Amino acid sequence: MSLKEFLVMATPSPLVKVFASPYVAGDSIEKAVLTAKSLWENKKLCSTVDLLGEELESDEEVEETIKVYEKLIDTLGEQPYATISLKPSQLGSHKGIAYCEKNIENLIVRAKKFNNMITIDMEDHNYTDMTLEMYRNLKKKHKNVGTVLQARLFRTENDIMSLKGLNAHIRICIGIYKEPPEIALQDKTEMKKKLLKYIELLFKEGHYPAIGTHEEWVISEALNIADRLNIPKNGYEIQMLMGVPREKLQQELVSNGITVRLYVPFATKWKFAIGYCKRRLIANPMMGVYVVKNLFKRN
Ligand SMILES: Cc1cc2nc3c(=O)[nH]c(=O)nc-3n(C[C@H](O)[C@H](O)[C@H](O)COP(=O)(O)OP(=O)(O)OC[C@H]3O[C@@H](n4cnc5c(N)ncnc54)[C@H](O)[C@@H]3O)c2cc1C
Repeated sequence: MSLKEFLVMATPSPLVKVFASPYVAGDSIEKAVLTAKSLWENKKLCSTVDLLGEELESDEEVEETIKVYEKLIDTLGEQPYATISLKPSQLGSHKGIAYCEKNIENLIVRAKKFNNMITIDMEDHNYTDMTLEMYRNLKKKHKNVGTVLQARLFRTENDIMSLKGLNAHIRICIGIYKEPPEIALQDKTEMKKKLLKYIELLFKEGHYPAIGTHEEWVISEALNIADRLNIPKNGYEIQMLMGVPREKLQQELVSNGITVRLYVPFATKWKFAIGYCKRRLIANPMMGVYVVKNLFKRN
């Protein structure tokens, strides 16, 4: 464990909560839905709303998570601006693929009634095979489902090719999980170059890439690729995390007719949010600096 990781892991949860506050929409469905609505009404930014929590291993917690997602889907109803993201390890992956897939499928079917879309987030490499297997099964039956691929993993090109003909909705990002050098790139610039390569491959394979990055040069290069391949503006979107300071860039993209979607996480139980927030702090210690700056900023 590096010193940076050690310091973040040792940070008391209440302090992590302060650092994480700009990145989390609140502690209820209502607050999350209100955040998504106001991002749309005030800034024309779309959202993908996510209940924080992972690696749940008790049936009760999984049942509770399903109920929250059901209520979230119903509360969002039919609208043009907010989709939903979820994780297999929140929804029963510990009990095997069949159980988890059924739980996710029920939510997809529920969302379909409102013309809403579900993205299955990608967790660390232990989940990649299972997530993609579920995705391929589900996508054959339901149009309103997408998933995520991580540019840092060596396997990603093959994974893109395994989606042939599916007209898939793929969030492509570098990935947040630290992975071993035997299976993944370790250098961020290399990951971003691969990200661009995979965006191009996704376009060429007829998929819809949701490009998840805050890196301006990557976004600008991705737009060049789309132009070069004559991809219309509704053939892709840019995704960022709520709280990362990119307002000017987001507004420029929106005014150019490009969909920008923010990841809007919320927690019904704070303990479930800690893992997400600590991972973000390790990946971007600048989070802490922004929050402290904002605390002292004059309005
Ligand atoms: C919508 C969305 C969904 C995602 N879903 C997944 C997923 O399912 N699975 C997965 O493994 N990963 C997921 N990620 C995480 C993603 O892969 C990266 O870890 C994250 O987006 C940062 O990568 P980057 O390309 O912005 O590069 P980075 O080099 O990490 O960031 C570029 C610059 O952006 C700024 N920045 C980035 N993050 C922060 C932050 N938290 N606080 C302050 N500044 C910041 C910094 O200025 C940094 O220098 C998701 C990301 C997004 C945006």
